[in-house]
Amino acid sequence: MFTRTADEIMALDPELAIIPVGSIEQHGPHLPIMTDWAIATELGRRVAEKMHAFQLPALPVSTNREQMGKKGTVWMEPTTFYQMMTDIILCLKLQGFKRVGIVQCHGGIFIMTPLIRDLNARHNPDLMVAVADTCAFNETLYREGILEANTELHAGEGETSEMLAIAPETVHMDRAVDFVPAVPRPYLSYGSIFRCCPDGVWGEATRGTAEKGERILARSAELAVDALNRAFDYMAAKEKMNYSNF
Ligand SMILES: [Zn+2]
Repeated sequence: MFTRTADEIMALDPELAIIPVGSIEQHGPHLPIMTDWAIATELGRRVAEKMHAFQLPALPVSTNREQMGKKGTVWMEPTTFYQMMTDIILCLKLQGFKRVGIVQCHGGIFIMTPLIRDLNARHNPDLMVAVADTCAFNETLYREGILEANTELHAGEGETSEMLAIAPETVHMDRAVDFVPAVPRPYLSYGSIFRCCPDGVWGEATRGTAEKGERILARSAELAVDALNRAFDYMAAKEKMNYSNF
C-alpha cells in the first residue's frame, strides 16, 4: 500500500491500517540482525493484503535490551516507543482510520500492552487498536505439525525457516546451533540472552527449512488476521457503561 500514491489511497479510503513492528538485533551466528524486521515486512504485507488495509512499512527499531552484548543490536527506550506509536496511531486517527492492527514480530516489546490498553481506553469506539503477537502462534504451529519442536524463543526453528523462505542468501546454516536453556523466559529480566544461551540462539535452528518457512508465514498470516478481527469484533460489540466506552 505504501507504493501507492496519496490519490490512489484517497480513492480506496481504507479504514484499517496495519503497522508491522520488527527489531534490529543479534540472531545467533547464522541469522542476520534484520531477521525480525524482514519477517515483519513479509508478514505485514500478507496481513494487509488479506484485510485490504493501508499498510505502513515495518518499523525496524523497537525495544530489545535483553539482546544486548554484541554490536548490531539497536533499541530505544520503552517510553520512546510508547510515545512514537501513540503519535503514529493518532495521526492515522486524524485521517479517518478507525482500526489499527499491529503485527508484532519481536517478542520483547512489553510496553505494547499499556500502549494498546491506554489508546483503547481513551479512544474507543472511535478508534480501536489491536495486536497480533507472532510469539503467541508457536503453540498452534507446533500443535498443527508445522513446527517440529516447541522450544523456540529466539533464532530457532521458526525464525530460521522463515528467513530461509524470505532471504536465503542471508542465512548461514553451516553455523546454525540448537540450544534450549534451563531457565524460563522471565529470566531475560535478570541478564541478557547471552547469559543463558551462549550463542544467542534459544531454540533449534538446525531444524529450519525454507519449505517449513513458507508454511509458517502462510499460517501466521491467517492467525494474525483472525486475532485482529476477533479483537476488533469484541471491541465493536461494547456498549457505553456509565461514563466509559472502554
Ligand atoms: Zn527474532
